[in-house]
Amino acid sequence: MSTTPITPDQAVVAFRGASKHYGTGSGTVRALDGIDIDIRQGEFTAIMGPSGSGKSTFMNVAAGLDDITEGGVFLAGQPLHTMDDTARTMLRRGRVGFVFQSFNLVPTLTVAENIVLPFQLAGHRVTRDEQQWIDHLVQVLGLTERVAHKPAELSGGQQQRVAIARALAARPAIVFADEPTGNLDTRTSTEVLRLMRSAATEYGQTIAMVSHDPIAASYADRVLVLADGRIVADHGRLSPQQISHLLLTAEGVPA
Ligand code: ADP
Repeated sequence: MSTTPITPDQAVVAFRGASKHYGTGSGTVRALDGIDIDIRQGEFTAIMGPSGSGKSTFMNVAAGLDDITEGGVFLAGQPLHTMDDTARTMLRRGRVGFVFQSFNLVPTLTVAENIVLPFQLAGHRVTRDEQQWIDHLVQVLGLTERVAHKPAELSGGQQQRVAIARALAARPAIVFADEPTGNLDTRTSTEVLRLMRSAATEYGQTIAMVSHDPIAASYADRVLVLADGRIVADHGRLSPQQISHLLLTAEGVPA
């Protein structure tokens, strides 16, 4: 049991001695094993590690989709570990954006309708200020000519740009991106990663991205590596070569 004090702070996400166990006794799987980490405001963090290292669990716990077994996790200063499912869902709807490998757009809705969907799910009418922000995003993301189209009429890169617009629209405390370039070709991946990079730099958007790809992770301000439910490396910005090396050794190179 961790002795780290559980306290909220200025971090967008704070893990304090957080563990997530599956099963009991000798069959216990420690998907997260005593994680202490702050994800800071405006930071673009890449979360890496081999399959089964705990990346999905980390993201699901940080987003309030999954509960921990021990310790504490704070999202936007709120203690997720003491909240019930309903309270966590409310917090998530208001403060978290998601971008998935498979885009997860609603096929029957237009681009414009997909982008405002999070507001509708939260039962919130889009204000004039919010509409201006959405119009700005649509323009910056090069979607102006596509707002009346359905997702199936768009390329993969365009669909992911819609998903990014949807994630940024409500100005969430954090955007979680799960292998956002996993289904995209190299050129389109670069475009999507540049957009995420500039969302962090220009809008101060906090982003946490799970990725296997050292090139994708080289766009991040910070690279975390998980192994067996623990954080085994925590670095600042690295080149793709440094990240590849880090993944092989998981011991760290100078940040
Ligand atoms: P990653 O995303 O890095 O592949 P996961 O977070 O999915 O890793 O899984 C971490 C560990 O927890 C793995 O050993 C996995 O088998 C285990 N695990 C994840 N979800 C469950 C579950 N629902 N039941 C039992 N074990 C699970």
